[in-house]
Amino acid sequence: METVDCVIVGAGVSGLVAAAGMARAGRQVVVLEASPRVGGCIHSWHLRDEIAPGGEGADFWLELGAHTAYNSYSQLLVALRERGRLDDLLPREKMGYSFVARDGRLQSPLKRLNFLQAAVSLPFGIGRAKPGRSVAEWFGGLLGRGNYRRLLAPAFAAVLSQPADAFPAEWLFRRKPRLAEAPRKYSFPGGLQGLLEALAEGAAFDLRYQTAAAAVTRTASGFQVQSAAGPIACRQLMLAVPVDVAGVLLNEVYADIANELRAFPMSSSEALGVVLPAGVSAIKPVAGLIGLNDDFWSVVSRDPIPHDTLRGFTFHFRPGRLNREEKLARAAAVLGVRAGDFLHVRETLNRLPAPGVEHPRRVAALDAKLAGEPLALLGNYLNGLSIGDCAERAAKETARLLAL
Ligand SMILES: Cc1cc2nc3c(=O)[nH]c(=O)nc-3n(C[C@H](O)[C@H](O)[C@H](O)COP(=O)(O)OP(=O)(O)OC[C@H]3O[C@@H](n4cnc5c(N)ncnc54)[C@H](O)[C@@H]3O)c2cc1C
Repeated sequence: METVDCVIVGAGVSGLVAAAGMARAGRQVVVLEASPRVGGCIHSWHLRDEIAPGGEGADFWLELGAHTAYNSYSQLLVALRERGRLDDLLPREKMGYSFVARDGRLQSPLKRLNFLQAAVSLPFGIGRAKPGRSVAEWFGGLLGRGNYRRLLAPAFAAVLSQPADAFPAEWLFRRKPRLAEAPRKYSFPGGLQGLLEALAEGAAFDLRYQTAAAAVTRTASGFQVQSAAGPIACRQLMLAVPVDVAGVLLNEVYADIANELRAFPMSSSEALGVVLPAGVSAIKPVAGLIGLNDDFWSVVSRDPIPHDTLRGFTFHFRPGRLNREEKLARAAAVLGVRAGDFLHVRETLNRLPAPGVEHPRRVAALDAKLAGEPLALLGNYLNGLSIGDCAERAAKETARLLAL
């Protein structure tokens, strides 16, 4: 049977940063990825896949999932520097977000802030500890309940593509050192997925696409991972998959951990990407729009990476509300165009963890169980949702396994 030092399941940012770290230490690594692409939640949709080579817009891409990365994502940037691709980062042009009312009116975030209420609340809110407090409690205490309801609740829901009130406050806005060599906010040629492809290209690990891990069993020297391509034996195993998939894969080998993982809730949102000629919508260049009691949480624009002839917007719809035609009609109304103006349309489903305020404590209990084990759990349910949080967790767990 094929035997390697480490099998990593999942080639999103978590799996790829871990694979880079393991390979750097000289370990023999196989990465199994269920889909035909890297990236998972980082999903850059390329028009070149739908139009004739060299056709209008063949160079255009739109983010259907994550869209912005920051220079505080140091572990991601360390891995990119190792591939010699740090200079390829594309700075995002500075643009703001606007709120959008159901009737299509745009409003700046500052217009929704009551300064007096913020000034009264700030001195009491600023020193309060975040651990054990929800986003609604902590940020409501910081700027006042009214400001939270009008401004912060819809803005955070737009960031998280789900209601944010019960989210653990300690998982939002953690201060991290910034890498001065990288632009503050960036994308990459081909979108953020291109950045992950750069991590995989020519790397010293073996990445296998369309090879889903189906089951894991224990052996005397480690694990055996089953996939349609046959079994692989390994000394160490890293699961970099959504939490529900990790729960299923661990059922036989770590039943108690699998049980814990089943209690971690997930949320979903439905992405609709639309591409239209640059001159058609009257909406001024914008990073994105924040829905106010709307069918969508947010609209993310491609404008910060401008294109000569096309614009693109991804609507992140609440799940189960609208069918495709209704989504297209809503998107057209918000952009002030006709649905017939859309040159290209793509839909996808995104899934994210939906952690509650007790979540960080659950993760701490999980980590206590993992101490000393040749198993690592990686992903966006362990250290925060952002790409940087995932990369940080991946680097930390790689170091732990390397030290065993
Ligand atoms: C709509 C949206 C917008 C976001 N915006 C941002 C943003 O702007 N900035 C930011 O920092 N973060 C953002 N995030 C969060 C961030 O993108 C994710 O949390 C992060 O990319 C998750 O990475 P991951 O590798 O842990 O998991 P995933 O990206 O979920 O990757 C898991 C991988 O495992 C694979 N897989 C699943 N099952 C199996 C199996 N059985 N065998 C093999 N492979 C399997 C999947 O195909 C996938 O490739 C956003 C997320 C979403 C959904």
